[in-house]
Amino acid sequence: MCSLKHTGAAYQKCINPDCGAEFDCGEVIFKCPKCGELLDAQYNWDKVPVPDRLSDFAKRWANRDNRLDFSGVWRFRELLDFCPDQHKVTIGEGQTILQQNCAIAEYLEMKADCLYLQYEGLNPSGSFKDNGMAAAFSHAMMVGAKSCACASTGNTSASVALYAHSCGLKCAVFIGSGRIAFGKLSQAMDYGAQTIQIKGDFDDCMRQVQAVCSKLGLYLLNSLNPFRLEGQKTIMYRIIEGLGWDVPDWIIVPGGNLGNSSAFGKAFYELKQLGLIERIPRMAIINATGADTLTDLVNNKKLIWNNGQVDQQIIDDYYADLTARNFSPHTCASAIEIARPVNLKKCLRSIDICDGIVRAVSDEEICDAKAIIGKYGLGCEPASAATIAGLKHLLAEGVVEKDQRVACVLTGHPLKDPNVTVNYHKEKQGQFSNPPIEAPNDLEQIIKLIQ
Ligand SMILES: [Zn+2]
Repeated sequence: MCSLKHTGAAYQKCINPDCGAEFDCGEVIFKCPKCGELLDAQYNWDKVPVPDRLSDFAKRWANRDNRLDFSGVWRFRELLDFCPDQHKVTIGEGQTILQQNCAIAEYLEMKADCLYLQYEGLNPSGSFKDNGMAAAFSHAMMVGAKSCACASTGNTSASVALYAHSCGLKCAVFIGSGRIAFGKLSQAMDYGAQTIQIKGDFDDCMRQVQAVCSKLGLYLLNSLNPFRLEGQKTIMYRIIEGLGWDVPDWIIVPGGNLGNSSAFGKAFYELKQLGLIERIPRMAIINATGADTLTDLVNNKKLIWNNGQVDQQIIDDYYADLTARNFSPHTCASAIEIARPVNLKKCLRSIDICDGIVRAVSDEEICDAKAIIGKYGLGCEPASAATIAGLKHLLAEGVVEKDQRVACVLTGHPLKDPNVTVNYHKEKQGQFSNPPIEAPNDLEQIIKLIQ
């Protein structure tokens, strides 16, 4: 693919401090060609017209007939200024809400006005991924990509398929056989993607898609792509916006491939560096116990960012053990069913930036929390509910205090995974199950049941 000059302010930089190689934003590389580490999008901030206050972004609400001002991603475009406006892609992503939820706060025995839910399921494809895809597809258009691919547990494939057809790109999505929620699979097929089911799990798909992309020159849309994470930063800007341009005390996010936690830490680091926020909130990343690589590495193996000098031996030994045991992750929260998270090191950096912590919750806890979010909120997919299940742990431990302001990121829509929901209720799997009541086709008896 051709190499274009960037807009002047942005460049790609290897996260390995011993390497630190820099590349033009017009290069399509996804991993540092010198050392193989992850890449960041970085900015020469003195060349970017960043507003003096975050609240200045609110003025764009008045120009909602401008497609970039309408987008919940590009509304903040100075904070992810890697691409000229003519290449920017939007399908109306990021019109999401921060809902204060007193009923769930009371269920958790928190102060009622302290809990907020960031509903990313309200995006066009029904998950937070659209934030990242708006940014990554803009980069794809900037570099003249003609076809693209991704590996997916489901949400990525739905989002990629939707953006690909709106950009006129050919698209292949790789999914693990039997490892994808029905709602998500239906979207990939409906949006016209070539859907390739590989006999294996997400980690197998991830390996194959990287090889296919480099062999066939396809544009890769996994969160390995640094521009995707630039789009996902805007979820944090919108939480700040929802709190009247203030930061919460805690951000709680599900941990799968660790793109979100990586993006959120970077967002806060940059905002602090720019003087746009005074303090950085703490972050809790919640794994499922059936896919708890991060929890194990951080809490038990004491893996840390260490100014970028991450102890690679700990990771290599851990993964070698997974391979030796033929380990495959298993959780009902399929969106976070990942054992080898590609953004691990960036996530460690975010933990360092945000004084972050990591916990794991069981599938049973996830399903109960999901039922509570459904009963008192707008609902969510299972992975999203790990946030409320994790928060319950953190309150019990006294790590999160009852009067601290907490924002939980609900990453996907409830209809993404109808099977988990239907089974939970119909099969009476949990304490909040609400099964349908069988009734005869008889008016009096129906009335009796309702009264
Ligand atoms: Zn490097």
